[in-house]
Amino acid sequence: MSDKRLVYLDNSATTPVDPRVLEEMLPYFQDKFGNAASRNHSFGWVAEDAVDQARERIAKLLGADPREIIFTSGATEGVNLAIKGVANMYRRKGNHIITAKTEHKAVLDTCKALERQGMEVTYLDVNRQGLVDLEELRAAIKDTTILVALMFANNEIGTIQPVKEIAKICAENKTLFFSDATQAVGKVPVNVKDMGIHILAFSGHKIYGPKGVGALYVSRKNPRVKLTAQIDGGGHERGMRSGTLNVPAIVGLGKACELAGEEMEAETVRLQALRDKIDHELLQMEEVVLNGAKESRLPQLTNISFKHVEGEGLMMTFNENIALSSGSACTSASLEPSYVLKALGLGDDLAHSSLRISLGRFTTEEDVDYAIERIRDGVNHMRSLSPIWEMYQEGIDLDSVEWSEH
Ligand SMILES: *Cc1c(COP(=O)(O)O)cnc(C)c1O
Repeated sequence: MSDKRLVYLDNSATTPVDPRVLEEMLPYFQDKFGNAASRNHSFGWVAEDAVDQARERIAKLLGADPREIIFTSGATEGVNLAIKGVANMYRRKGNHIITAKTEHKAVLDTCKALERQGMEVTYLDVNRQGLVDLEELRAAIKDTTILVALMFANNEIGTIQPVKEIAKICAENKTLFFSDATQAVGKVPVNVKDMGIHILAFSGHKIYGPKGVGALYVSRKNPRVKLTAQIDGGGHERGMRSGTLNVPAIVGLGKACELAGEEMEAETVRLQALRDKIDHELLQMEEVVLNGAKESRLPQLTNISFKHVEGEGLMMTFNENIALSSGSACTSASLEPSYVLKALGLGDDLAHSSLRISLGRFTTEEDVDYAIERIRDGVNHMRSLSPIWEMYQEGIDLDSVEWSEH
């Protein structure tokens, strides 16, 4: 195909660095290359000042105190430090953690690792919208529960959990509450104090900052949370995360947070209108369903299944021109239907036929119009080749058909 257009609609996977972020970072690679821990000369002071400013900008976006911000290499490390750090530190108090089946692998695999070391983990179910049931959460808490780990917003379907209510239940039961807010920070208002979150992780590269940097908020007061370090060394970051700070990346993360705070409101209005246009146009098609919550959802993301169409094949009709994700995860050799969609109650076929479209700061209305057209054409094309679609159109009840094995 001669169409040279390339539209990026996979902003939930990663975002490009905002040019304003890059500009602030550049001096810290060369002229201002000092080690922020060098307390005895001006190279160190300049770097330390830059780190302090970044800490303040991040704290401001989260409604936290700058001293409550720990720099990490990204959300995966933040999640590991939060969950393992609590499990190690509060071992005498208990060995039970509560999380949900739709969490990111960073959380699920960390919990699995702890289970192998004797921790007990409860994985809550979610409803069709992807929401946890607050009564189920309440009932799951026991004397030995030391942590509730529930994400703020889901990376595949965008569902936003009732974080404030979850926090209230945790407070009533004197259990720590950790939230993986990687998809929420910078996209929707997140205020750790108002919401009652005790530990929160997020990442630079999902908010137009650089890859390989993130931050962990750790409450210092009511409650004062202590985490066992997972990386030992020079005692940086209040002893919770040693290692020379990645100053340019931290500067970038700080700038990204400042911009997110300034632009979130206007950006949300613009992107939600574009997202709603996609929903409106694509959901008009026959045999199409929206996955996850319609209302309690990130403004810039949608996840839609096109029945009787295989998502990976559908993507091949446009993936030279449009980048987005399907509901199948490439695990080494095989195509597995998304465990998030399956947890909502979708069958394998519907999970395999889904697309996640995630918009971002640099998405234009032309991008969206083009994508709608190409996706619609792709679905129609795939269906025109499909005997199953033909049967559906002839009114055959596909659930009653007995498929022969061969
Ligand atoms: C991207 C993502 C992560 C992992 O973040 P990294 O910084 O890439 O390690 C964790 N949780 C959620 C919800 C994410 O979207």
